[in-house]
Amino acid sequence: MVGAATACALAEAGAEVEVLEAAAVGGGTSAATFAVDVSRVKTPRALFDLSVASASEHGALERALPGVVWRHRAASLEWAHVDGDHSRIRERVRRLQAWAFPAEWISPERARALEPALELPGEAKEIALYRDGAWYEARVLARALLERACARGARVYEDDRVTATTTSGGRIVEVRTAAGRRIDADVIVDCAGPHAAKVAALAGATLPLRRLLGLVVTTSPAPTRLRTILAAADLNVRPEVGERVVLHSWRVDADLGGGPQWSRVATLASRLLDRARALLPGLAGAHVESARVGVRPVPPDGLPIVGFLPEVRNLYVVVAHSGVHLAPLLGRLAAEELRGRAPARLEPFRPARLLAAGDGVDVEDESVRTMLAQTSGASQERSRAG
Ligand SMILES: Cc1cc2nc3c(=O)[nH]c(=O)nc-3n(C[C@H](O)[C@H](O)[C@H](O)COP(=O)(O)OP(=O)(O)OC[C@H]3O[C@@H](n4cnc5c(N)ncnc54)[C@H](O)[C@@H]3O)c2cc1C
Repeated sequence: MVGAATACALAEAGAEVEVLEAAAVGGGTSAATFAVDVSRVKTPRALFDLSVASASEHGALERALPGVVWRHRAASLEWAHVDGDHSRIRERVRRLQAWAFPAEWISPERARALEPALELPGEAKEIALYRDGAWYEARVLARALLERACARGARVYEDDRVTATTTSGGRIVEVRTAAGRRIDADVIVDCAGPHAAKVAALAGATLPLRRLLGLVVTTSPAPTRLRTILAAADLNVRPEVGERVVLHSWRVDADLGGGPQWSRVATLASRLLDRARALLPGLAGAHVESARVGVRPVPPDGLPIVGFLPEVRNLYVVVAHSGVHLAPLLGRLAAEELRGRAPARLEPFRPARLLAAGDGVDVEDESVRTMLAQTSGASQERSRAG
């Protein structure tokens, strides 16, 4: 997703672009993601502003790509599941209201009217409504962006992994691929998502990046008629094309452990579906259609990393958690910079901040903080139980 957006913006800006993709376009984490507009959970202010601006960028792309449908607007409903969540959600609503983002409290009756598919649990007394939301079909957008890039002269090579680079005088002078391609370029843009650190390391550069697993389950078609995105602390649910529903839970992610064991994935996927059935009775006859484990590329402070790596002068990185939502804007800003005009908006996201900070980096993005807290909470529960 991030590579497609960046390649398209660069080709539109007049650059000669070659895209090297190890597998298939729109695969990677962008094929195993919850893929919603994440603005409501983004902090600090610079990342929130970037996220809101990226929602507008999706809108601009909709006008530029008539007939391509990947963005589905949907409001979100959120309620507390355990005590600690109340204060976190209240704080979030207060913050969003102060930042002029539409967030309000509604009654359970109003929530039921907005989302008739929902069997609201008894503990849900206060429900937060965020009107401006969306879910995305990432693969559709990635393919459309690369088609547009190709129409402007870009070349895309799939099934061709970057395996080595040659550096000289602090620059990459050649990129080599598994299929034997040799490419020299003024700038190499590393958009390899969770593999971005590995690609940077080929050139001897350091890119601090965590890789955090997440399970995304898609149900078979079911008569839920779900219209909204639901966030119930330990379960996230959204509509999907073809009357399907997509499920995700940070708590369940914690139970994936260090690597996906497929029998375990099947058990966890069923657990997710069982939980979802309690909220959406329309899922009674549904089964798990797909269960995919994605690897989130998470910078240590949770913020995107965009810019040249200091160790290799022509190696530029664009990597972000929440990359499906942020890709259109990050891609355009990166292209602006590579065409000679560095956007001020990118300053908080430069790689140097992480390289200077070493290990002692605070997590600044609330969504990443919450994710880490929930996953480590669940791991502790697991180790207590075990
Ligand atoms: C469970 C889960 C939930 C999520 N929820 C959301 C959400 O709600 N909203 C949101 O915006 N984001 C969400 N994310 C994060 C988001 O999916 C990622 O940030 C995003 O998909 C990253 O996109 P990318 O293009 O950087 O990486 P990828 O999609 O992984 O693409 C990287 C590409 O690089 C290729 N590659 C790797 N190594 C090489 C190499 N050596 N040579 C050539 N090519 C290579 C790979 O094949 C891949 O196609 C979620 C992620 C997970 C796992």
